[in-house]
Amino acid sequence: MATSFNQPLGGNDMPRFGGPATMMRLPTQPTAAGLDVCFVGIPMDIGTSNRSGTRHGPRQIRAESCMLRPYNMATGAAPFEKLQVADVGDVAINTFDLKDSVLRIEKAYDDILSHDCVPLGIGGDHTLTLPILRAIKKKHGPVALVHVDAHADVNDRMFGETIAHGTPFRRAVEEDLLVNDKVFQIGLRGTGYAPEDFDWPRRQGFTVVTAEECWHKSLTPLMAEIRNTIGNHPTYISYDIDSLDPAFAPGTGTVEIGGLTIWQGLEIVRGCSGLNVVGGDLVEVSPPYDPTGNTALIGANLLYEMLCILPGV
Ligand code: MN
Ligand code: MN
Repeated sequence: MATSFNQPLGGNDMPRFGGPATMMRLPTQPTAAGLDVCFVGIPMDIGTSNRSGTRHGPRQIRAESCMLRPYNMATGAAPFEKLQVADVGDVAINTFDLKDSVLRIEKAYDDILSHDCVPLGIGGDHTLTLPILRAIKKKHGPVALVHVDAHADVNDRMFGETIAHGTPFRRAVEEDLLVNDKVFQIGLRGTGYAPEDFDWPRRQGFTVVTAEECWHKSLTPLMAEIRNTIGNHPTYISYDIDSLDPAFAPGTGTVEIGGLTIWQGLEIVRGCSGLNVVGGDLVEVSPPYDPTGNTALIGANLLYEMLCILPGV
C-alpha cells in the first residue's frame, strides 16, 4: 500500500528539457510491483506495411511528454493524487522476428497484470495490441473495446501473413478476446480493397463509426451511447494515432486524409471516463515522419488523458 504517490518531476526542480526522458518525467522501476498504473514502451515497427519508424515511437513520445503537468485543467482529474504510477521501461522485443516479439509482449504483459497494474502501452505498431489482448483475456476475460483508427485492422492476411499491424482485430475475434457487441471502431476511412471492407467487423457485431460520420460534430453524444452499451464490462482502449487527420498527426506510417480532429480525439478519450478501463495503448507514432514532434506530442497527451479517466482517479 503506497503512502505517497510518485509525482512527475516538476519544471521548477529540473528544466523541462533536462533529466531522464521517462514518460511524464515519472520515476522508473523494472517491474510493475506496487503500481496501480504503468507506462510501458513497445519499440516495434516490424509489423508495419508501409512507412516504418514506429520503433522510435516510445522514446519520442516520452521526450514530448516532458511538458505534461500533473493536473488536467479541463476535466479536473488529478491522477497522481490517487494512483501510484511509474514508467516500467520497454518490452525487449526481438526486432528480427515479429512472431517472437508477439510472444515477448504477451509475457511482459502477463507479468504486469500479475501485479494488478493497469498497463498503458506506448507503441510501436498496431501488431502489439494482439498479444496485449491475449494477456488481458487471461486476467479479465474477453473485453469491450474502444478502437480509434483510420483502419479496421481486420485483414485476414497481409502478404500471406496472419500477424501484422493490419490483422490484430481479426485474430482477436477468432480467439474470442473481445465481446463483439461491445466493440466500437471510430474514425475508419480511406480507400479499400473492396466496397464491403467495413462490413466484416459489422457482421461480427462491432459498431463502425466512419470518419465521415464524425465530421463537423462533437463526439460527446457518441461516447454517451458507447458508455451505455458497455456498462461496467472490462474495457480496453486502443488508439491508433492515424485516426487523426494528417494535418494534425502526419508522423505515422499509413496516412489517410479526412480524419478526426485533436478535439474529437480528446472527446473520445475523456468520454471513456466512467468505463471500467483495464488497459490502453497509443500506437503508430513514427518519429522519422514527424519533424516537428507534434504527432508524438499528441500521442503523449492522449496517453495522459487515458490515465486521467482510469477507475479510481
Ligand atoms: Mn491500426
Ligand atoms: Mn491505422
